[in-house]
Amino acid sequence: MLSVNAISAPSATGPLERSTIERREVGPRDVLIEIRYAGICHSDIHTVRGEWGDIKYPLTVGHEIVGLVAAVGADVTRHAVGDRVGVGCMVNSCRECENCRAGQEQYCLNGNTGTYNSVDRDGTVTQGGYSTHVVVDEHFVLRVPEAIPYEAAAPLLCAGITTYSPLRHWNVGPGTKVAVVGMGGLGHMAVKLAVALGADVTVLSQTLGKKDDGLAFGAGDYHATSDASTFEALRNRFDVIINTVSAPIDMRAYLGLLRLGGTLVSVGAPPEPLAVPVFALFNNRRSFAGSSIGGIAETQEMLDFCAERGIAPEVEVIPADQVNEAYERVMRSDVRYRFVIDIDTLR
Ligand code: NAP
Ligand code: ZN
Ligand code: ZN
Repeated sequence: MLSVNAISAPSATGPLERSTIERREVGPRDVLIEIRYAGICHSDIHTVRGEWGDIKYPLTVGHEIVGLVAAVGADVTRHAVGDRVGVGCMVNSCRECENCRAGQEQYCLNGNTGTYNSVDRDGTVTQGGYSTHVVVDEHFVLRVPEAIPYEAAAPLLCAGITTYSPLRHWNVGPGTKVAVVGMGGLGHMAVKLAVALGADVTVLSQTLGKKDDGLAFGAGDYHATSDASTFEALRNRFDVIINTVSAPIDMRAYLGLLRLGGTLVSVGAPPEPLAVPVFALFNNRRSFAGSSIGGIAETQEMLDFCAERGIAPEVEVIPADQVNEAYERVMRSDVRYRFVIDIDTLR
């Protein structure tokens, strides 16, 4: 076992604090990663506050991880010491079920092993990336191209793939009319990626406070959802709506914005159910869907796409001791657009 420095949540209500956690010894197919940066995802906050159900404390969260390979097991072929790598929301899956074989490990029929708060193969609870090192099976370790700035790469491992995957699945491309609801960590990546895919992108944010940024990311249009006339003006407009809001939204109002055959995809994961009025689906034969992160091959494809196209998240790098303050700012929608912890401040 390796003892490493970390930041952990002691309880659902207590502030996160410095701690020490254990990592397993590097097995034959494992990679030891010296973590450099870890992004703060809203899912980390939902989890540590027990909003998605009870969890075992203390817990270290963080599933947007980038760093350098520090050691590899004897059978590792995909990565070498010194490589710049990343880990996202999963660290294992069964590899045998239909979904795993289709490269959709996130939908493993036997349940994927989450980067944190999952039961690992040795029976311990997995601990996430707000820590100096992690040991991960090589299959779940991604190559992070040098063209992506180091500190900006981490959010791609969750916010990037979670928005890229539905954009690709619903065939977003030139001419597709896409709306992105909520412009936080996921939302700002949805805007950048949909623009890069050639779509005609509209941002739906609570206020117009971030309009200049949205237009700079390439959106053609930007509306405030606090203004009721927005929902009249944009009725029957969009092919695809990507909802990234961490709280419930008024489904009737947003579904009304879909044109014939359009789909509202929720990647936002509020603890409460989203109430879907079925008549809002009948009109225009609309669909309501969900999407969870992305498979390993697709995550690599997304990283390579971002490197080729010069796409990177907007980040605010913070020292480890500012995590609690960052959580409060995320809760106030005061994030531009992802907090990333400089893990060197934990060493
Ligand atoms: P975030 O940075 O906090 O962004 C969420 C945005 O939603 C905010 O910036 C805000 O945008 C808007 N918003 C927040 N509260 C709102 C409210 N009460 N009403 C209306 N709009 C509100 O969070 P994130 O890290 O992007 O994560 C977003 C959600 O996706 C979370 O629920 C997270 O758990 C989930 N998630 C899901 C997956 C998946 O695989 N499906 C993966 C990662 C995260 P404006 O200021 O622009 O209004
Ligand atoms: Zn996440
Ligand atoms: Zn499986």
